[in-house]
Amino acid sequence: MVIIMNADATAENIKNVIEAIQDVGLTAQIMEGAQQKIVGVIGDKSRMGSLAIDAMDGVEKTVEISKSYKLASREFHPQSTVVDVDGVKIGGGNLVVMAGPCAVESREQLFEAADLVKKAGAQFLRGGAYKPRTSPYSFQGLEETGLRYLAEARERTGLKIVTEVTEVEAVETVAKYADMLQIGARNMQNFRLLKEVGRTDKPVLLKRGLAATLNEWLNAAEYIMSEGNPNVVFCERGIRTYETYTRNTLDLSAVAAIKHLSHLPIIVDPSHGTGKWRMVKPMAFAAVAAGADGLMMEMHPNPAKALSDGPQSLTPENFSQVMQGLQQLSAFLHTSGLEITTL
Ligand code: PEP
Ligand code: MN
Repeated sequence: MVIIMNADATAENIKNVIEAIQDVGLTAQIMEGAQQKIVGVIGDKSRMGSLAIDAMDGVEKTVEISKSYKLASREFHPQSTVVDVDGVKIGGGNLVVMAGPCAVESREQLFEAADLVKKAGAQFLRGGAYKPRTSPYSFQGLEETGLRYLAEARERTGLKIVTEVTEVEAVETVAKYADMLQIGARNMQNFRLLKEVGRTDKPVLLKRGLAATLNEWLNAAEYIMSEGNPNVVFCERGIRTYETYTRNTLDLSAVAAIKHLSHLPIIVDPSHGTGKWRMVKPMAFAAVAAGADGLMMEMHPNPAKALSDGPQSLTPENFSQVMQGLQQLSAFLHTSGLEITTL
């Protein structure tokens, strides 16, 4: 952090700022500009927590120069991380696909979806049992019953289960059934929830917040990791912009940026990212070309009858076509050397 002093700051003002910094065990370094003096702060910035430097006499502003996230940053951990979800590896060149309905609606619906997901070659079954719906009158999910169906579908197919947890009180229950805990866009800055999943031993799929900056997203991962859980996978799912044609604006540049800033894997969800099933295939292909470690896609045995997100859900036929295309694309990228690995 650097502290920029006012042009008319007195020697006494500067001395007070330096003393405040030294009092919390940090080192201050003065840089003399033509007009202003700048005080550089060196050391563990968490010690600055108790100081209100901006409020001190003679201070114009404080500017952060180092990143506030550490455990999630590539600076701190140059080697890319591979997250192992009970034997399925995310990162390290494997293209992982998580697919299934938006919500678990019934045992029959889920089993039908699970069989199709397995047959098409994906590794994870997705499906919400706790649904964070915009309207309180919309289908809210089957909760623990839905989790039981997911666990049964795992028994039936061998697919891993990824499912959302929306509240602190449900973390223990969801962790009992799921292989991977999903933090949804609406909860990306629910810090108590982030800490709670950080205390479990289950890998976490961290979706990008509805309007989150990359810095906020990386700090959300830091919340989870700082509680002792190193297994975090990012999921870009679009952000809100002024565009209304699509449900969200899928930010594929986030794939390249996150790979540069962090060692953690990142997957892309073109279903929530666009809100339109027709756009899922092109955006899925583009995500893989951009270097994504995997995809999350919604597929429903009968999208027209889906209780949520039907318009963005692939039919079984379309899903299996997308999967075939993805296999060809990733094989081509791999053999041609066009695969994006380091940034
Ligand atoms: C979901 O994946 O079911 C979901 C609700 O997505 P998001 O949190 O990205 O809106
Ligand atoms: Mn959905």
